[in-house]
Amino acid sequence: MASTTSIRKNDQVYVLRGRDRGKTGRVLIVLPDRKRVVVEGIQMIKRHTRPNPQKNIKGGIVEKEAPIDVSNIAIVCKNCNKRTRIGITVIDASVKPRRVERTCRKCGNSLD
Ligand SMILES: [Zn+2]
Repeated sequence: MASTTSIRKNDQVYVLRGRDRGKTGRVLIVLPDRKRVVVEGIQMIKRHTRPNPQKNIKGGIVEKEAPIDVSNIAIVCKNCNKRTRIGITVIDASVKPRRVERTCRKCGNSLD
């Protein structure tokens, strides 16, 4: 899949499947394979950590977001606030690579 159709950092997304279905959150990290993302407050897991005084880590149970597959989320359009699919609009085809932007399939406005 082309990078222009991908979810990006800071996108608002809606969870379609899984434990957090129905929730929305902001994308914190897009993993290098582009198939998974970490979303703020979604897919929380408890991680047991050892105390490490040198790094000022207290230890115990820390809640942390786990990556979620992009097929389980949908982007939320910042213009119309609806869950949508990402469309591509060519802004300038005279340059190479041609300039494109991600657009909302529902309202047509830019998602970038
Ligand atoms: Zn829209």
